[in-house]
Amino acid sequence: MGMSVSMLASGSRGNCAMVSSASTNILVDAGISGRETFKRMKALGEDPHSLSAILITHEHSDHIYGLATLAKRLRIPVFMTGATHQAWARALRDQRGEKPKLEKFERFESGHRFQVGDIEVKPFTIPHDAADPVGFTFRAEGVKVGFATDLGYLPVSVRDHLRGCDVLVMESNHDLEMLRVGPYPWSVKQRVMSRVGHLSNEALANFFINDYDNSATFVVLAHLSEQNNHPEIARREAEKALSARGGLFHNRVLLAAQTEALPPIRL
Ligand SMILES: [Zn+2]
Ligand SMILES: [Zn+2]
Repeated sequence: MGMSVSMLASGSRGNCAMVSSASTNILVDAGISGRETFKRMKALGEDPHSLSAILITHEHSDHIYGLATLAKRLRIPVFMTGATHQAWARALRDQRGEKPKLEKFERFESGHRFQVGDIEVKPFTIPHDAADPVGFTFRAEGVKVGFATDLGYLPVSVRDHLRGCDVLVMESNHDLEMLRVGPYPWSVKQRVMSRVGHLSNEALANFFINDYDNSATFVVLAHLSEQNNHPEIARREAEKALSARGGLFHNRVLLAAQTEALPPIRL
């Protein structure tokens, strides 16, 4: 076995995925409840107690909602940057009056690779309105997996990190026109569209047309807005852009969902 990726939940109501090698299982973000995380893992035939670590991209609640519970129940290391950890602890203290404590907190720095079991993790900075947000690439057994969600645009540095990925999990948050005419207040629309907001279908399509190296066997569209996007619009935009590069036969476009886990992607 090479690596596998399971999208357990994706969207503004909670994000959680599992990246695995033959001997290591990493949970990427903990944005749904501990109970729901367990339920979805079990539905895929995965044992939550086989998890080696939890990695956190940033402190927004759709990425950390279940963290305290999961960390307590599983007693496994939780990796995040120092600034993300501080922001998480502050939010938890203010909201729940709890004194946040992680038994096994592991600090990483953006740009510095580290190892979890036999998976090499490289965190990289993404433009988003959080304390110290990151995307990740994972490498094991000759396979590379890239995660880039929650980012206002795709700077050159991020595009560089995403080269050579066999599985690419990319934000396809909103359709610009749907967002523009949709129900959000103007201030929220501005935040979503800003350089530190979320990536539109159109911005992702531009990346596929202009910068993408056509390396991925699977492209996963993630963090879709339920209000300002539609899965079929996101898919159509992505497939149109990928086929413009002649890459559609090679790239399988999958849509990560909010309410149920995707079957594992195996490479
Ligand atoms: Zn966010
Ligand atoms: Zn998010």
